[in-house]
Parts: sequence; C-alpha cells; structure tokens
Amino acid sequence: MKRTYIVICLLTILIISPAAMAQNWKAGTSRVNIIPEKQIWMSGYGGRDHVAEGKLTDLWAKSLVITDANGNTGVLITLDLVGIHADTTAAICEALKEQHGLERSQIAINCSHTHTGPAVGMNLGPLHYLQIPKAEQEQLDLYEKALIKKVVSGVSQAIEDVEPASLNWGSGLCAVAVNRRNNSESQVPEVRIAGKLNGPYDHDVPVLAVRRADKSLKTIVFGYACHATVLSFYQWSGDYPGFAQISVEEQFPGVNAMFWAGCGADQNPLPRRTVELAKSYGHRLGTAVGEVINGTMHAVESTLRTEYTEVDLPLQQLPTVDELKGRLDSDQKYEKARAKYILDRLGNKKELDTTYPYPIGSWRIGKDVRFVFLGGEVVVDYAISIKSLAAGTPEDRAQMVWVAGYSNDVMAYIPSRRVLREGGYEGGGSNAYYGMPGLWAPELEAMIMHEVEEQWK
Ligand SMILES: [Zn+2]
Repeated sequence: MKRTYIVICLLTILIISPAAMAQNWKAGTSRVNIIPEKQIWMSGYGGRDHVAEGKLTDLWAKSLVITDANGNTGVLITLDLVGIHADTTAAICEALKEQHGLERSQIAINCSHTHTGPAVGMNLGPLHYLQIPKAEQEQLDLYEKALIKKVVSGVSQAIEDVEPASLNWGSGLCAVAVNRRNNSESQVPEVRIAGKLNGPYDHDVPVLAVRRADKSLKTIVFGYACHATVLSFYQWSGDYPGFAQISVEEQFPGVNAMFWAGCGADQNPLPRRTVELAKSYGHRLGTAVGEVINGTMHAVESTLRTEYTEVDLPLQQLPTVDELKGRLDSDQKYEKARAKYILDRLGNKKELDTTYPYPIGSWRIGKDVRFVFLGGEVVVDYAISIKSLAAGTPEDRAQMVWVAGYSNDVMAYIPSRRVLREGGYEGGGSNAYYGMPGLWAPELEAMIMHEVEEQWK
C-alpha cells in the first residue's frame, strides 16, 4: 500500500512538475497603433512615386515582457514594418535602459517585413529617404520620432501589465512560402497544385502561448518565414502577417497576437498582388496557429536566458572615398544615393569600415525552446542550419528552434555562402538600396553560425 502511494506520488510529481513549473512565469503585453498620422512615404518598393493614400488594416507595435522564476526578464517587440535601422533600434534601446534599466540582451525587436508600411528613418535610405523631397523627408523624421516614443511607451504599458502567467509552446505547418529563387513566379500556381515546389523552404509555424493564472489566453506569439509582399499598393496594411494576426485574434478574442518574421528573405507568397490573396494566406497561417493552440502544447519551464552580440562581419570590394565622391554625380539614382548615404555616415573618416557590426541575439526559453534573432533579410539556409544544431529528431529540432530574421537592425540581405556565390538580388544585388558599400565576404555564414553556436553553449 505504502509502495503504491509512493509510486502514485512520484507519478503525480512527474506529471504535474513541468506544468507547475510553467505556471511560474510573469508576463505583460501591450499593443500600440503605429499608423502614421499623416499620409507619408511608404517603404518596400523602389517604384513608388507618391505618399500613402489610405488604410486597409492597422499597423501595430506589440510588446511581450516575460520574467522567469529567478527574475530574468526579456522584452519581445514586434513591429508591422518592413525593417528597422540600427539608429532607430539604438534610440529605442537607450530609452528602455534609461526608463526601465533594460540591458541590450534583454530586448529583441522584430519586423514583419510588410511592404505596405511606412518608410522609417534611414532603413533602406537610398531607396526611399534619399529619393524624396525635403518636405517629405521631414515628415519621415517626425514619424520616426513618434514611432520611437510609441514603441517605448508600449513596452512601459507591457511592464505595467505584468501578472502571474504560464507559457506553452508548440509548432505547426503552413505551406504558403515559395522559394522565389528556385521557382518561376508564373508557373507557381500549377506547380503548387502538383505539390512540386523547389526548395529550400521553411514551413514551420512556431507558437508561444501565454496564459493568465486563470488559464485564459493573454498573448500568442507566432512566426513564419516568408516575404510580406502580397500587396504593393498605396494603402497601409500588415500584408498577410497582418491578416494572420487578425485571424488569431478573431479565433481567440481578447488575445494579443504577435507575429515575427523568420528567415524568409528568399521566400515569397506566390501568387500575389490581390487583397483576397493577402487575406487568404493570413487566414491559412492564422488557422495553423489555432490548430497548435487547440492541440497538445508543451509546458515551458520557468527559465530564461537572453544573449546579444554584434559580430564584425567582413565586407569585400569596397570603393575608396574618392570613388564614392565621384558617384555623387552618377545618373544612376540608387548608386548616387548609396554614395551619399555612405559618405554622410563616414563623417571625417578617410576610409570605409571593412566590417559591419551584425546583431545576433538568442533567448533560451525553458529547456526546449531556442529563439535566435538575426539582423537583416536572412535567407532560409540559416534557419535550416541553425535548426540542425539542436539535439533530438529532425522533427523535434524543426519545432523547438525558432530563427527570426529582420531583427534589431535590417541593414541588408544576409545570403548564405551558397546564395552569395550564386549572386542575384539576395546575393548582393540589393545592397545599393540599403546603402551597403560592397558585398559580404564569403566568411559571413561561418561567422554567423559560430556566434550562434557560442550563444548555444
Ligand atoms: Zn525583402
């Protein structure tokens, strides 16, 4: 009898323990509307010739603050924006340090990469800011200042909202993303039906569910690796990630749904260009999230470790300062703007920096989930390589390792060594639009992977 009792007790501890530990979190969340007050310049496409004309959906800055049983805190900020410049991130982080004592490693900022959001600061400066009249640049300056304030106030609201919580994780699948380098856009509809899309791609849908002490859902964080380029018109919209957040919030009323973009730099939602398709892809992604939430999720033990480093990634084929000055008279408007961007930032320095401080962050949430935050537009090869670092079956790894791109500083495309060698838009053809002075050196992939592995230890 006594023995049975001990066995039952042990079983009870084994069964309850992870769930009980998962209760031991604190969490707060918030959302702030970041739709510009005025119709300003939009981001994402070079062909734009006037400011926004209206709104299809709202755009949000959403925050989640989590604190583990030992008081370790992390702040995740998701933005319905195409990207963010290092200067804008620095201003946000400085204010958060001053107001809340948050260290850099505790903050992760991710952009959805919607191509129907506002141009912000010098993100894609040569493509937008440096191409428009001064009066419109001033409107962008005002918006950037307002955005920084809104993001910081959103985090403050999330901190005030902190309450006892539990965390659970799970992962689903959604087949919207198509490798745009390896599939012809015009053939995609038929190839899709035949199920013969060329890879690589990452169709995982990682989900983190935050519940209050009474078990009600508070926040759902989910990610997906695919460009938000269904729409290209002149109305503000969150594109398919915006509709996916709306879909999740409709399925679970009262929840704050937060989307983060994965390594989808070489992935497109194809076919595209209609509001119906944006809604339909968003609905499919939202449905995948709902299935995870309604299925069996895993309790997350109350431990959090956050890390952040900037790695000096080498560049190749740099121009001299004189060459750049010569390009200020170029009749190629993006080359001219790139030269101006670089020279303005160079100040009195005589030579260009041969490296770029590339941000890599990671959170270990509980014992299972590794959440990696990479800067730039990261191609899918990185997600696949980073997932392979984890133990367990390939399926376990795919589910437990979450790799975000578009985080903290979106300064360029981040090709793998393979994509850099192959060239094309993601290999470096896009660098002018970002103001990068040259191509990344081939070592970049090994250096990024090395740092991710360091943070893994
Ligand atoms: Zn992009």
